Amino acid sequence: PGRWVKAMEILKEFEEKCGTPILKLRQVADAMIVEMHAGLASEGGSKLKMDEEGLFYALDLGGTNFRVLRVQLGGRTRGIVNQQFEEVSIPTSRMTGTSDALFDYVAATLAKFVAQEGSVFKPSPGRQRELGFTFSFPVVQSSIASGTLLKWTKGFSIDDTVGQDVVAELAKAMERRGLDMRIAALVNDTVGTLAGGRYNNNNVVASVILGTGSNAAYVECAHAIPKWHGLLPKSGQMVINMEWGNFRSSHLPLTEYDHALDAESLNPGEQIYEKVISGMYLGEIVRRVLCRMAEEAAFFGGTVPPKLKEPFVLGTPVMSSMHRDTSPDLKVVASNLKDILEISNTSLKMRKAIVELCNIVATRGARLSAAGVLAILKKMGRDTVKEGEKQKTAIAMDGGLYEHYTEYRNCFKDTLNELLGEEVSKTIMIEHSNDGSGIGAALLAASQSQYL
Ligand code: ADP
Ligand code: MG
Repeated sequence: PGRWVKAMEILKEFEEKCGTPILKLRQVADAMIVEMHAGLASEGGSKLKMDEEGLFYALDLGGTNFRVLRVQLGGRTRGIVNQQFEEVSIPTSRMTGTSDALFDYVAATLAKFVAQEGSVFKPSPGRQRELGFTFSFPVVQSSIASGTLLKWTKGFSIDDTVGQDVVAELAKAMERRGLDMRIAALVNDTVGTLAGGRYNNNNVVASVILGTGSNAAYVECAHAIPKWHGLLPKSGQMVINMEWGNFRSSHLPLTEYDHALDAESLNPGEQIYEKVISGMYLGEIVRRVLCRMAEEAAFFGGTVPPKLKEPFVLGTPVMSSMHRDTSPDLKVVASNLKDILEISNTSLKMRKAIVELCNIVATRGARLSAAGVLAILKKMGRDTVKEGEKQKTAIAMDGGLYEHYTEYRNCFKDTLNELLGEEVSKTIMIEHSNDGSGIGAALLAASQSQYL
């Protein structure tokens, strides 16, 4: 009937607007390189010596969950001897309340974790415990252990933290809680992942986060950084936190659904690239298109399912489980529609269309994130191989989206290979570093220890 045709028109039009042909991806990469030249920042330039020893803690506050970790370092030869972590989800109320409420919650979780240390971990007698603080929001870093929050992203919105030193906020909460621990380093998750990645593999020169949000960092020659007025580090190299989530360009294939999502978000006009590639938003884009199909083409029958109108009901993990459904009757799609959206009696044809919709959204995101990696490689001159050269390039990758969304990950890798060509692709390694950002923060805390 006419409704099906109309629904397919909406889907087709969306697909066309989401198109990411190779030429477009190259334009996106080049536009990002222009921004990289303009925005090089002089932060995070800390060096690891890799021979640190002792027990160090890390706290990773990045989005939906936060993690507390402890790492026992055994020096250059033994590396990471032992590690333990715990993951806790942040109640939504703490993401939009007051600064004290958020940091009290974080400090309380950390204090509980420290209390369960156990005897395999060996704090040095008479020494204060030390912590690396991974904080994955835009910060102006004023020293290795202080930084001012510029703005919240990823669904956080706490006005009284903006403009404050987040290390001081955490330190005050730890003091209120009676937790005696020194915050030795403030680290962005990209910088932590890069540090953790380099600890394991010398070829790591960049890191990418594809989780709730998205960001990247890379190693830059210090003399290429015009904003840098300090002393040049001995290595001549510095880590650049790109804050690529905030990238935007007229070359990005944005649709009316993306514009509406952005306008209704907690940070309208910001983090545009993040809003098309990262885990917080992919499921929500799918929901918005489905909603339009329901409203304008009666895709689910005469009434629009009320649940479908709720922003963010359709999370990216649900989207990926539907996308991955290979059962002949698409029963995973059917059961998710029923459980999450309270929609029953869908035909196989409808379920197929929904899988296709997930595919369109994931494919656009994955291909655009691959374009971002191309930009980094091009900036570093690693997108070509000279004859006889044996240079290897590794990129440390972290984040739940990359880890769990197989179709996204595969599309990302395929696209990167397509962009680089076969020969160059062989020299590029994507290393999935689970929890790299937390471990990297512990390593950076160790390198900044007051007892060195
Ligand atoms: P953060 O960005 O907060 O550090 P993570 O790296 O742990 O978070 O990533 C969490 C995000 O990963 C979730 O917000 C979600 O978008 C995505 N994610 C988690 N599990 C899955 C899954 N099974 N399929 C797709 N995406 C997932
Ligand atoms: Mg994270």
